[in-house]
Amino acid sequence: MTPYTVSPYLRMLPIEPVREDLAWMDLARCTEVDPEAWFPEKGGSTRPAKRVCLLSCEVRAECLEYALEHEAVAAYGIWGGMSERERRRLKQQRAASSTPQVQRIAS
Ligand code: SF4
Repeated sequence: MTPYTVSPYLRMLPIEPVREDLAWMDLARCTEVDPEAWFPEKGGSTRPAKRVCLLSCEVRAECLEYALEHEAVAAYGIWGGMSERERRRLKQQRAASSTPQVQRIAS
């Protein structure tokens, strides 16, 4: 298994991250800045964290997919540049788009 560094914000979580290929975390930009920004207080701004995710993190896609697949671990905070609510919405949109559409048969 590739050694990896768990980012500071993951270390703040109350449970261990799911052990699998987490090599992408070595490239996480959030390891270089204040991890508190990824868990703002209620009503606090998510913009500083999102700005880092969206503008300078090359593993944003991997991070987002990890969060979507591991909700128990990634229930809170900013992951892949998205808040909990945004991830929930994205998951619902994906589920809706993968639901087979009922075709209307013209009579
Ligand atoms: S996308 Fe954001 S939260 Fe995810 S690893 Fe990159 S900087 Fe960290």
